[in-house]
Amino acid sequence: MPAGVTGTDCRTASVNLYFDFEGAAPSACAVTGERAFTLLVTPEHAPPINPSPWYAFRYEASGDAPVSVTLRYLGGKHRYAPKIAVPGGEWRDLRAETAPDGSSAVLRLPAGDGIVAAQEVIVPDDARADLARWSAASGAPVFTLGQSHDGRPIKAIRLGRADAPRLVILLGRQHPPEVTGAIAMTAFVDALARRADTLGDVQVLVVPMLNPDGVVRGHWRANRGAIDLNRDWGDFTQPETRAVKTWLDALPTAVRPVLMVDFHSTARNLFYVQGDEATPAQKRFLAAWLEGREDAVPGYNFTIEPRNANPGSGTAKNWFYARYAIPAYTYEVGDTADRAATRTMAEMLAGTLLPALDSLTD
Ligand SMILES: [Zn+2]
Repeated sequence: MPAGVTGTDCRTASVNLYFDFEGAAPSACAVTGERAFTLLVTPEHAPPINPSPWYAFRYEASGDAPVSVTLRYLGGKHRYAPKIAVPGGEWRDLRAETAPDGSSAVLRLPAGDGIVAAQEVIVPDDARADLARWSAASGAPVFTLGQSHDGRPIKAIRLGRADAPRLVILLGRQHPPEVTGAIAMTAFVDALARRADTLGDVQVLVVPMLNPDGVVRGHWRANRGAIDLNRDWGDFTQPETRAVKTWLDALPTAVRPVLMVDFHSTARNLFYVQGDEATPAQKRFLAAWLEGREDAVPGYNFTIEPRNANPGSGTAKNWFYARYAIPAYTYEVGDTADRAATRTMAEMLAGTLLPALDSLTD
């Protein structure tokens, strides 16, 4: 059994619950009836922690009656509407009866076999498949930037020529539960990889899963070092953030970062961008890339939220802006965003990125 996957399970004569796959959260489980269970959904370290309670388990239920699973949240409130899939099947929404104070939610599972999770389960194997597809489309090799605490590789790909002078950095999955951001990033990079031969003097570093340990272990926020990676840019105390920094520091001087985009999820679709501190060229880039496109895709509208740097906050956004004086944006996708529209918008923004980059140098 791989590290981070617990063998703990919870069973009655007719129902088995398992927490034995990558992305499963090893919740404490209590049997409260022949077809009733309570899971204590707990964070990976003591609070305070960002309230994004992740849960994921699979079950096998013989007989016909539904199975009741109560989620009780420790240090958080119900946030993610549950998803269910039969093994190998499509994810669909599962209704939850949420307590008025959000401290618990009751799920009613149909008999049979299924996987239930807070969001679609997207794990390192999925990132590897994405990277292989981008490599096939672009001819670029997949490489390893570094290792996580648990020794998992931090995989990356560089689209475009290694000596192309303008570098775009795309980061994903610093925060394990933020799956909608990963869905947008996959579509965004798919679109870039398809046109890799048109990148010209632009190269793109893509790191789709910066926190593989947290993803595999079902964390709410942190890496294996109990650190929020998106507060570690600047200190670089963690191997995952340091792996990116080391790669950047080794770049030839002729290669210069021009843009960083970091994919996340939150309550609604938005971009955090630089505020008044943005230079005229950076404002031109924002206008060329995002402004006017907020409602361009039906079912996916976003807002642009200018925020000046908060020195010392340790976010990738602040660090890239401060270190390289470049636009550094957080691409936030709503937890409940329509998945198809999320992909459509991401593809569109990938398509308009290259011309917009020219506005930084014009
Ligand atoms: Zn996040």
